[in-house]
Amino acid sequence: MTATQGSQALDEITDWAYAPAPQATDVVSIAPENGLFIGGEFAPAADGRQFATVNPATEEPLAQVAEAGQADVDRAVAAATAAYEQVWQPMPGRERAKYLYRIARIIQERAREFAVLESLDNGKPIRESRDVDVPLAAAHFFYYAGWADKLEYAGLGPAPRPLGVAGQVIPWNFPLLMAAWKLAPALAAGNTCVLKPAETTPLTALLLAEVGQQAGLPPGVVNVLTGDGAAGAALVAHPGVRKVAFTGSTEVGKAIARTVAGTGKKLTLELGGKAANIVFDDAPVDQAVEGIVGGIFFNQGHVCCAGSRLLVQESVAEAVLDRLRRRMTTLRLGDPLDKNTDVGAINSRVQLDKIRELSDSGEQEGAERWSPPCQLPERGFWFPPTIFTGVSQSHRIAREEIFGPVLSVLTFRTPEEAVAKANNTPYGLSAGIWTDKGSRILWLASRLRAGVVWAGTFNKFDPASPFGGYRESGYGREGGRHGLAAYLDA
Ligand code: NAD
Repeated sequence: MTATQGSQALDEITDWAYAPAPQATDVVSIAPENGLFIGGEFAPAADGRQFATVNPATEEPLAQVAEAGQADVDRAVAAATAAYEQVWQPMPGRERAKYLYRIARIIQERAREFAVLESLDNGKPIRESRDVDVPLAAAHFFYYAGWADKLEYAGLGPAPRPLGVAGQVIPWNFPLLMAAWKLAPALAAGNTCVLKPAETTPLTALLLAEVGQQAGLPPGVVNVLTGDGAAGAALVAHPGVRKVAFTGSTEVGKAIARTVAGTGKKLTLELGGKAANIVFDDAPVDQAVEGIVGGIFFNQGHVCCAGSRLLVQESVAEAVLDRLRRRMTTLRLGDPLDKNTDVGAINSRVQLDKIRELSDSGEQEGAERWSPPCQLPERGFWFPPTIFTGVSQSHRIAREEIFGPVLSVLTFRTPEEAVAKANNTPYGLSAGIWTDKGSRILWLASRLRAGVVWAGTFNKFDPASPFGGYRESGYGREGGRHGLAAYLDA
């Protein structure tokens, strides 16, 4: 095929029509009212308060969920303390492992149910919840189940001990996966847990609590408190909590660090990011473009380690941007439950407003905005995949986390300039490198101030691999052997 034929073919691709391939939702039954999960049972909040969780793709309410208050936090921490002292901590590691294996297998058995529920509550495409979130959540339980009886071989001292009750607060972008990241290492290490999912995505954490019941997990080992920031704040401040694990915004992370300071509680913070995805002139362009697209449009850009700043070498900038724009015209935005969908709904109106405000600031500050032609559904929360060119380092869209499908493009001439620009951020969670030279990858990786550096790929996760940030991206590591250290007194 000649080059001209190739580009004609690409133009035609944009005209392809896809027949809808909707995922059936009858695998899921959502109770109209959902209680808190405390001491192995579901029960309403002590003061009876509830809130609605909505489907962000339609704005239809999905269910009412109990809103935990101080009395519920007290009850959950008491249940977790009793379970820690009487059952979970004294239990041999090989017995704890059996529960974790069971949970992992039940997640696999109920994978479709989890995937559909996650897409309904979060707005992410079913292809992502089905192929990424749910399998990785199961993999985390499998992985840490393997550690439960081998803690003394983790390189953390001859007799590492659990900490006690872990208070865990998670965000809405990967609700089930973040629950798995928090619960699996904590339980493997012998701690008990009180988990607070985000207010816009509580449903899969409650289904996971049900899976715990199904697995015969002793009452109180895992407790789930649905509610808002006030419930999270009460949980992390509770004197009965010995370990706090938080994933969310840098602002809330700082508030939690202040609360926890001086209490002797162990703390890990997984916060925001503004990662650089760096493309050199010798990079394989098609692969790099796939990596750029996956880096920023996966999960609507609601990814803390999203490659939200593209740094492209000036000599290839036009060619890369040309291919990127073509690729973006083939992204399909719409119904998250359609198996063809690439870009789903924004998780909430609040988040949509934040993305709009920051994108408007990009235009006001002089950057050039571009989105492919794309029809947004009438109802629900939607934002088209967007790139900004002509971005300078002082623009807000180059400095602040947008947490949406918005890419800021900057250029560089030398590797030194790429490093300086990539590190010019208060964050330090991740980075990506696209080049043909192994030596350049190593040179850059040792200079980039980021917890994770991907080369020739982006957004790759594995439970055996530690993940976490520097500076305003937080501290502590989740995943791998390092993830155990956060839950052990060693
Ligand atoms: P958020 O900080 O507002 O909320 C996160 C969680 O904290 C929610 O469960 C919320 O109810 C709770 N919360 C709110 N105020 C609290 C308080 N004062 N005390 C205790 N808990 C409180 O963040 P968000 O809007 O839900 O999530 C988006 C942010 O999370 C982004 O900035 C993103 O970068 C970050 N994030 C980071 C990672 C990571 O691994 N580093 C992963 C996902 C998301």
